[in-house]
Parts: sequence; C-alpha cells; structure tokens
Amino acid sequence: MKSSYYSLGIDIGGTNTVFGAISNDGLILKKDSILTRSSEDPGQLFDKIFEKNKVWKKELNNRYLFKDIGIGVPNGNYFTGMVKDPPNLGQEWQNLDLVKFVKKYQDIPVKITNDANAAAMGEKSFGVAKEMSNAVVITLGTGLGSGLIIDGKVFYGHDGFAGELGHIIIDPKGRICECGRQGCLEMYVSAKGLKYTIDDYLSRFPNDKTLLNLKDNNFDGKKMDELFDVGESIIQEIYEFTGDILGQGLAQASTILSPEAFIFYGGLSNAKHRILKFAKQSMDANLLGFQKNNIKILLSKLPDGEAGIIGASCLHK
Ligand SMILES: [Zn+2]
Repeated sequence: MKSSYYSLGIDIGGTNTVFGAISNDGLILKKDSILTRSSEDPGQLFDKIFEKNKVWKKELNNRYLFKDIGIGVPNGNYFTGMVKDPPNLGQEWQNLDLVKFVKKYQDIPVKITNDANAAAMGEKSFGVAKEMSNAVVITLGTGLGSGLIIDGKVFYGHDGFAGELGHIIIDPKGRICECGRQGCLEMYVSAKGLKYTIDDYLSRFPNDKTLLNLKDNNFDGKKMDELFDVGESIIQEIYEFTGDILGQGLAQASTILSPEAFIFYGGLSNAKHRILKFAKQSMDANLLGFQKNNIKILLSKLPDGEAGIIGASCLHK
C-alpha cells in the first residue's frame, strides 16, 4: 500500500525554471530545469513540465502518490492565484490566473506564491532558517527578491505582497526602476544593478580595458569574481559600492523587522563574501546602536535552485 506522497515544486525564474518531485519530508525525488526565455508562453512551459511529470509519476508510482502542486513565480499572489506584471517574463504572463491555468492540465490542488516567499518557505522548512522564528531570505539573481519569516511563518501582508525589499528606495534621485520609481535597492544590488554600475563606471572611464572586456563578455559574474580575487581595483570598488548599498537596505529593513539573520540565496550570492563582507560592514554602520553586530548575514546551504522548489512544494502544508 502506498503511504507516501510527492508534490510538484516549481520555481519559475526570469532565466531558468526549476521543478522537481518533492516528497512530503522534503526529499528531492526528481529534478529538472528549463530555460525560461522571455518569449516562452505559459503553455509551452507547462507542456514541458507536465510531460516530464508524467514520466516521474510512472517511475514513482509504486512508492509515492502525486498529491499537489506548489509554484514560486515572480509577482505570484498566494491569495488570488494571479500573476500580475512579472518582470523578466513575456506578454502572456502579465495578467494570468495561474492556478486556473495549471488546473486545466490536471485538476489537483495548486497554490502559488512569489519566488522569494517560496525560497523563504524552503529555508524555514528544511534550510538555514529551520530553527529561526524571525529571518529574511533574500534572493539575489536577475533582481532582488525577499521573503519574510515572522514568528515562524512566511509573512504575506494583507494582499500577498509583503517583503518587497528590492524596492526600498535607497536614493530618491537614483536610477529609474521598472516599478516606476527611482533609486530602488534592486537597481544597484542584482545582476541587473551590477550592469548599470559597470555602465556608470564606463561612462567615467571609457577606455578601461577591464570594464570593456566585461561588457564584451556579457558581464560574466564568474569573471568578475576572479578579477576581484586577484585584486583588480576597479572591480573591488564596484563590489564595495554594491555591498555598501546592500548594507544600507538591510539596515533599513532591520529597523522594522529586527531579524535574527538575512539569508542569501540565488545566482549572484555566488559572489559570496566578496559583496557580503562590505554589506555587513555597511549594515552595522547604519543600524541602530542596540542592533549593531546582532544581526547575522548567512548564505543558504541549500544548493542553487533547490530552496525554491522545496519551498514551493511546502505551500500546501
Ligand atoms: Zn522599484
């Protein structure tokens, strides 16, 4: 007799969608990923996911029953099941009843949330935040997302969109953000933000070979890390600038939330201590006196791509 279940956990990102069959005790039984080109409409994406799940269902059928689906998606609303104006995704995603859409494939319980909240669920259920009651999970990738854990639960706010730390305004006269305002944290601290910073530096130092080379190589993050490690001063300056702004944002968030830790997850957090050590210094310099040195900055220990799918799979718990 079958006694175990699995959930399909899906983490939809601007460049990559990861999905997996996750057992009810957090074990990844199967996993795959698809490049999410911005031209890819939801139908193309879910055709591929359900095709794969059909194979998995067959393979797992003696041991696990397919029970439900949880999805982390940019601007996904936990309460309404709608996706509205997600950045970095194509036209057909802009006003989509995703729960209804997915149920057309199979009438099974479906829940969605935004990708950062899903990552926070993953950290709280099975990751670094497992023993924490108050923490903030920050996803650093194309953009900067965040999920709040308050009193042991993911906090959604009245409309499902609490915790948009990427849009804390750092400089009211700063870079124009896609949200229509100026100087948001994400416009400086994210892969996108770094590109703008390099462009700014290039306008000041148009003949700098290191910067020109980076631009030619599509701002390769790994290359930047290597240049940082060998002491390339302009890259060190750019990381310090980025970390400094990140620290200011974390300090502002801390005055309201007083978390035990900020936990970093996602592609850009691979730059690790290179940016985060500057962020820690800047956060402590900007914190209220009694909070100084009392808030940790940690890295997710869940491998890339897994906090999102594990978290999404916990949405029905
Ligand atoms: Zn913004």
